[in-house]
Amino acid sequence: MKALMILAVVVVLLIPACLHASPAKSALEVVVLGSGGPRAFGRAGSSFIVAVQGTPRILVDVGPGAFLRIGELGLDLEKVDTVLLTHLHIDHSGDLAAFFNARALTSDGPIAYRIFGPDGKGLFPKTSRFVDLLVGDDGAFAYQRTFGARESFVVHDLAINLDSTRTKIVDEDGLIVEEIATHHGDCPSVAYRISYKGVVVVFSGDMDASALPNLVQLAKNADLLIFNCAVLDPPGSPSQLYDLHTPPKKIGEAARESAVKSLLLSHLAPDVEGQEDAVRKSIRASYSGPVAFASDKLRVPVGK
Ligand SMILES: [Zn+2]
Repeated sequence: MKALMILAVVVVLLIPACLHASPAKSALEVVVLGSGGPRAFGRAGSSFIVAVQGTPRILVDVGPGAFLRIGELGLDLEKVDTVLLTHLHIDHSGDLAAFFNARALTSDGPIAYRIFGPDGKGLFPKTSRFVDLLVGDDGAFAYQRTFGARESFVVHDLAINLDSTRTKIVDEDGLIVEEIATHHGDCPSVAYRISYKGVVVVFSGDMDASALPNLVQLAKNADLLIFNCAVLDPPGSPSQLYDLHTPPKKIGEAARESAVKSLLLSHLAPDVEGQEDAVRKSIRASYSGPVAFASDKLRVPVGK
């Protein structure tokens, strides 16, 4: 027991200062709703809430299980009107309708959503079509638009070619959101940069290494880069996964090149979860800043 307590103290001391939980109203706070991916092994699918000066405002991805974590954390959704979807795989979007439901049932008035996500290609609909398939007139859950609260949706389909320019999509009262196209196999994908009062958090989404130049540009000097870490360095994971995800060695190189101040690894797969030391060591080869692993319901204050 004593050894466990000592270990707990050591672990707390090892957590970088910028990743400490704090009740203070930081400029930005990232609440991890889901730190997992498509496999069912106890972590919710990928999802985050970003609070601005203490108020939850932005939902970044909404994988299965996000709904449950929102309730467990008792999060106030009243101001969460902005939804940023990195891509439309189920492990990032499966709980979107459930989120609409949860938000509507705690709302005092009409809700005006603005939703951003990638344009469509191949088997993947553009984001506006995706939302329409859920809650449009002919959507599976058309009833939701008037269930609890009257809802309206403005949906923006973002460019998905890697040579598309970095684009500002929100600029109001000091809150800025920018995006850039990434690459995730055959699934259109984008990354997001959220800034408030000079404090910056970047979400990679799922991406393979071919999109790293775009990600490095978007993440330049960010206070926190949340990178989805779903594979081990080759040959540790099935070879086809490297066409979808970036291995730790290259995550470390990207963190160094973009000069981010801290790194949080999320979207953890079972084999990555069991190899944290190896992952950290691989990243350490290039990047010397703080590196932490996400868990569901982790709160990460960023900035004062
Ligand atoms: Zn994923």
